[in-house]
Amino acid sequence: MPKEGHKYIFVLGGVMSGVGKGVVTSSIGLLLQQKGYPVNLVKVDPYLNVDAGTMNPTEHGEVFVLRSGLETDQDMGNYERFLNRDLANEDYMTSGMVYQSVIARERALGYGGKCIEAIPHVRDEIIRRFEAAAEHDAATSQQGGNGSRVSVVEIGGTIGDFQNALYIDAARVMKMRHPDDVIFVMVSYLPTPGTLGEMKTKPTQMAVRDLNSYGVQPDFVIGRSKEPIDEKRKEKIAISCSLRKERVISAPDIKSIYEAPLNFEKDALSDSLLEALKLPEKRKASLTSWKKFVTAATNENVPEVSIAMVGKYFDTGDFVLSDAYLSVIEALKFSAAKLGKKVKMRWINSKDFERGKLKVSMLADYDGIIVPGGFGESGIEGIIQAVQFAREKKIPYFGLCYGMQLMVVEYARNVLGLKEANTTEIKKGSPDPVVDVMHDQEKHLAANDYGGTMRLGVYPAYLKKGTMARAAYKKELVDERHRHRYEINPEYIKPLEEAGLIFSGTSPDGVLTEIAELPQKVHPFMLATQFHPELQARPLDPHPLFTEFLRATAAHKKRA
Ligand code: GLN
Repeated sequence: MPKEGHKYIFVLGGVMSGVGKGVVTSSIGLLLQQKGYPVNLVKVDPYLNVDAGTMNPTEHGEVFVLRSGLETDQDMGNYERFLNRDLANEDYMTSGMVYQSVIARERALGYGGKCIEAIPHVRDEIIRRFEAAAEHDAATSQQGGNGSRVSVVEIGGTIGDFQNALYIDAARVMKMRHPDDVIFVMVSYLPTPGTLGEMKTKPTQMAVRDLNSYGVQPDFVIGRSKEPIDEKRKEKIAISCSLRKERVISAPDIKSIYEAPLNFEKDALSDSLLEALKLPEKRKASLTSWKKFVTAATNENVPEVSIAMVGKYFDTGDFVLSDAYLSVIEALKFSAAKLGKKVKMRWINSKDFERGKLKVSMLADYDGIIVPGGFGESGIEGIIQAVQFAREKKIPYFGLCYGMQLMVVEYARNVLGLKEANTTEIKKGSPDPVVDVMHDQEKHLAANDYGGTMRLGVYPAYLKKGTMARAAYKKELVDERHRHRYEINPEYIKPLEEAGLIFSGTSPDGVLTEIAELPQKVHPFMLATQFHPELQARPLDPHPLFTEFLRATAAHKKRA
């Protein structure tokens, strides 16, 4: 167990998944941080994948890369954005990781010949990880202080899922050992069936009973619903679930997830949490800058810029899309709020350009174009057409990872005249492989060794003087997060530069290209990055490249 007095809040889901446990976890984190306590947020994904890197983004949402390079669930992105800080490997776990360490220890005779079982061995490994996350954070984070700290742990899925039983049991044991240091928050759902027009509390009561069967009693119930929960229903939940009424918290639908902490404060959540954790109030939660951001981000009465997002994962309907590119969408919101604009997005499937369903000239109706990250073959020629249109018609263009590689392919083909130029990810024997697999990646591909082997996490980039990138960041050296296997082929850098392309960001040794741009006298904003700037954009610290891109789109709109 970490130092006596380290506090844990376990966030569990009742009734159904997808009702915003991640936002609750993030909001609790922000509120306690604002009360003066150091906070780390931990996500438990009960599936057997060892990390999120091998999962399809259209099914599972965005793969969020931590500073360290660990590929995690998109909730980790929300956590970092709410807390405005980086989180560590220890703050993320899957059942795959848990079992992998138990099995490795067993193979090394680490259990001294015992029979290894889910309980106690796997459960104990889970407890060890919860404690390790707290210890690691205390040892490394900049939040300082020797006093109490808080870990907020979100257990994915819903109470009653077989696969999260061991995690709930681990939390129960921690509560048993340290009754004053562990509390439980259940996020539930209160439906209002159309035929009745009345909000029902029964499913929540049943979910609490389910949780009770694990030997766990929630200290708080956060009720997600369309409308705020009225006093009568709060009382009903309180009495039937053995809770004080002020610990039944209302979480009605809101316009923006960033409003959630402000809403929770209407029910005095942070004071009640401190009371439940037996922590003194160090200071009033100061949400001034957060409020300012939320007001700007939800203000409808500001000028709009329209952005076409051209990509290849767009077959699956709007719901999934917004999950697959979550950080990009959020990064745009933060910069838009800073500039006093709002963004209207249109998702365009690049395959529609290839099959003639859409004409690439339709992009003239937009103030800016983004090509986000992606992998593999389909839809690539459509994207290249879009890049060419953006370049020739001088529409602001921002490419992210694949969006940079394809911007370079387009330039090589249509400006340098290398008609067959391509990335070897698509065409192995291309005569002009302007984008090629990185040397140290070849062995992984040959061995089908895909998990966690890309160039991942933070690497520094040096920014060339006199470029747009340098002007945006206002510094010479930046750290950005990566996730790729291919790179701009060094052999083509010189000819591309001679043809007018600027590699404004490179690895400090000058070998790897990190940013490509066109001179501003040629194009108002044509810039793309090998890294993923969206992963480090924060509500209170918008990313300079997104801000400059949006500024360019607003200028383009004015001119049009
Ligand atoms: N598929 C490309 C690569 O592996 C780009 C990856 C990305 O967009 N994240 O290099």
